[in-house]
Amino acid sequence: MIGRGCDVLVIYGIDYLIRVVSPDFSNNSYSIMIQRRNFLQAAAWTAGTLPAISFAAGNRPKVGIIGAGIIGAAIAAYLVDAGAEVVIFEKDEPASGATRASLAWINPSTANAHYRDLRLESMGEWLRFEHKLKLDVVWGGSISWSDNEEKAKNLDQREEVLRASSAAPRHLTQADIKALSPAMEPGDTKAGFFLPQDGHVDPVETTRKILAYAVAKGARLLYPCAVDEIVREQGQIKSVRTAQGEFALDYLVSACGTDTSAMLEKVGVKIGMNAVPGLKIHTQPIAATTRMVYDFSSALEWKQMPNGEAVAIYVGGPPKSPVHAPVFAGTLRSHPTQELAAMHGESLKAKVAKYWPALQDAQLKSVVVGYRPMPLDGLPMIGQVPGVQGMYMVATHSGVTLAPLLGKYAAQEILTREKALVLAKYRPERFL
Ligand SMILES: Cc1cc2nc3c(=O)[nH]c(=O)nc-3n(C[C@H](O)[C@H](O)[C@H](O)COP(=O)(O)OP(=O)(O)OC[C@H]3O[C@@H](n4cnc5c(N)ncnc54)[C@H](O)[C@@H]3O)c2cc1C
Repeated sequence: MIGRGCDVLVIYGIDYLIRVVSPDFSNNSYSIMIQRRNFLQAAAWTAGTLPAISFAAGNRPKVGIIGAGIIGAAIAAYLVDAGAEVVIFEKDEPASGATRASLAWINPSTANAHYRDLRLESMGEWLRFEHKLKLDVVWGGSISWSDNEEKAKNLDQREEVLRASSAAPRHLTQADIKALSPAMEPGDTKAGFFLPQDGHVDPVETTRKILAYAVAKGARLLYPCAVDEIVREQGQIKSVRTAQGEFALDYLVSACGTDTSAMLEKVGVKIGMNAVPGLKIHTQPIAATTRMVYDFSSALEWKQMPNGEAVAIYVGGPPKSPVHAPVFAGTLRSHPTQELAAMHGESLKAKVAKYWPALQDAQLKSVVVGYRPMPLDGLPMIGQVPGVQGMYMVATHSGVTLAPLLGKYAAQEILTREKALVLAKYRPERFL
């Protein structure tokens, strides 16, 4: 029999794993007994989504997700596949936050070995996710290089960390870069490597497709619909009050990017985060020259979309001058004038054109200001909100790289209460 407070036979996949569960989303009383095989193994064998869970008619858990960026979208996709009832609340438009400003390079690069492996695991998950949801990932590889001794040391260190994994970087000289990517003029090269398995996506289009998948499978996507208040009863999440009314929920997920700290404050939890500014340009389409992503001296990154548009970002923010104070306060969402936007956009384009001459005559199409949701140690924050029953959170930089994996683990942890061991280093408690 299936129902609240009753023992339930939950079957993941065909016969991978059987659990006996007493689900009660209102008071968190779960007892889980794993009878066969490891869940993660089982989930990895499926086509990029969680296996369906049998919930009784009328007793599917209601999960609200705050934020329709790529992270909220991915969580929604895995949750609907597992059988949850999902509502996504977005205060603005889907993919209008950090996701819109992202270069959306899918890569394992970091000097932290554990985090490298998490990113690699997500890249594996991307393959399944892409196939299942019919997404368009360009798997063209990436080239990182530097003309600066200090930055070259960092690159060498990253290359070494990557070499100790399945990422298999190939060391590059200036001549190698030219041979691998004739459209580029790398100039003096003090260090460099090629990562063959890296990819990139159009972050906005991809997020919309993931949301469309979730909606086609029954999720509700509400926007503009800001979550203003979180209502709890005896410590347990009960509902949210939004611009479109109150919604009763069994579980709530915060996936609101740089608004995470403000959202947590609504339930009395104080966890600071940084919002690291970035600037992105798109040009009008130019002749196709490359499928790779380029990272020059950890200062500039660029790529070309399948429709020919060139895309570039500054890795760092603007100079810390008084005129940029609103940028560092995170309050500037777009340039105050079109002239200023064009000036900044042209300047970024000219810097990249030094290494990619085809960009010189390209026309600017858009200039976007965005903020990276950055936990204080730069690593993802994922898990139960400390002390708040029924509330889960995900806030991370590199959210495009990590979306499928964090989406999968979030859905798994929410619906089964089984904790993924690999996430132990990424719990929000580390900041309390
Ligand atoms: C310039 C730049 C370059 C980047 N490059 C890369 C890269 O190459 N590779 C990579 O992997 N990552 C990159 N990132 C990081 C990546 O884009 C982010 O980690 C990712 O987009 C975060 O997604 P998210 O869904 O968590 O947040 P967001 O996309 O910010 O989505 C959060 C959503 O929550 C909504 N929201 C907030 N508060 C509320 C509320 N009260 N009610 C309802 N909705 C609410 C917001 O409107 C927003 O739409 C980059 C980011 C930037 C800014």
